[in-house]
Amino acid sequence: MNTEDIQKIDQEHVWHPYSSMNSDLPVYPVKSAKGVRLTLTDDRELIDGMSSWWCVIHGYNHPVINAALEQQIHKMSHVMFGGLTHEPAIELSKQLTEITPEPLQKVFFSDSGSVSVEVALKMAIQYWHAKGQSQRQHFISLRSGYHGDTIGAMSVSDPETGMHSIFQKILPKNHFAKQPRCRFGQPCAENDIGSLEQTLKEHAEKTAAVIMEPIVQGAGGMWFYSADYLKKARELCDHYDVLLILDEIATGFGRTGKLFACEHAEISPDIMCVGKALTGGYLTLAATLTTTEISDTISQSDPGVFMHGPTFMANPLACTAASASIRLLLESPWQKNVRRIEENLRGGLAPCKDFDFVEDVRVLGAIGVVELQQPVDMKSITRDFVGAGVWIRPFGKLVYLMPPFIINDEDLATLTNTVVSVVSRLKM
Ligand SMILES: *Cc1c(COP(=O)(O)O)cnc(C)c1O
Repeated sequence: MNTEDIQKIDQEHVWHPYSSMNSDLPVYPVKSAKGVRLTLTDDRELIDGMSSWWCVIHGYNHPVINAALEQQIHKMSHVMFGGLTHEPAIELSKQLTEITPEPLQKVFFSDSGSVSVEVALKMAIQYWHAKGQSQRQHFISLRSGYHGDTIGAMSVSDPETGMHSIFQKILPKNHFAKQPRCRFGQPCAENDIGSLEQTLKEHAEKTAAVIMEPIVQGAGGMWFYSADYLKKARELCDHYDVLLILDEIATGFGRTGKLFACEHAEISPDIMCVGKALTGGYLTLAATLTTTEISDTISQSDPGVFMHGPTFMANPLACTAASASIRLLLESPWQKNVRRIEENLRGGLAPCKDFDFVEDVRVLGAIGVVELQQPVDMKSITRDFVGAGVWIRPFGKLVYLMPPFIINDEDLATLTNTVVSVVSRLKM
């Protein structure tokens, strides 16, 4: 098939993420990808600034992950997880319980981030049910948060950007505290945490858990907030006897400069979700981790089992990719890489601060964000980026970079220079 055929059938039949079937926004067919480069079907090469939405931390087509998968495919690609187990899942569980905060000792695998959030919410509810507190069926989360697209995950994501009004009859009713406005690196004032405290004060008795993205609010606004806030949130959960779920799906595996973002606040959640970079961007896999106390409580009382079990739970290929990816990460100088990327993003994006229509420029770890005053025109900005040989996909007012950790300084400079020049030419 040539490029036009692909695009024509795509436009006729294929729905893309958060998109209209009737728009004329182009999609670019990719033929292959290697390292930090995507090759389009017309042979143009693009430097990847997105890591395919936080996932591809080691770059595309990595020889080590490829080899691990090739070996595994000859043994078995899949086997059901009910009543059966296998080494890829065991190996990965061992790694995950070793690298996440110490109290997290039990692992529940699922197929995507959203599902791992559903699992976390159900775990929290079942935990309280087991303790005779079945009235605890609600959650508290933060404004501008994002936890996924399934019904439960949506119900704890920002009500406005998540369009809760359309789904109001079916979405569970939860409570939202104000978005933390204290920036990363700054202390958190009393009035900043006040909204969460007030929400807990009013609703704790019916609340199973507080759920939040630690340090980085991703798809809800690419905002980096104070570690002090997170620390205080942990204290409040303890004080009001409510569980804390941390959604590390975007932040996990080094993106913020720590292996997990909760390490910035030196706290540990009761339940943690990981996904996205878990398999190095190879296959869809997520996990929900919890403590022995929670798993014991759920397992020792009615109905005696945890009520969830995806068909493709702990898929051996996905677990193999994840194990290989974690091994690669731990063996690599990833802290040094993320620090280097952070410095280059900081320097490289700084000129954007001088443009009138730029609201804010912020960098944390391997994430660089230019926040504009107005939403961008996706069609023209995407064309400009692709024309300049880079793959950058803004959303709303946000133009951001989160490259693979292996990107070199030269390619990174191409990314930041292109952002500066494209943004400088925007007419707002
Ligand atoms: C992407 C994301 C999810 C949803 O993961 P999917 O794999 O897309 O279902 C949930 N939480 C956060 C913080 C995310 O960034």
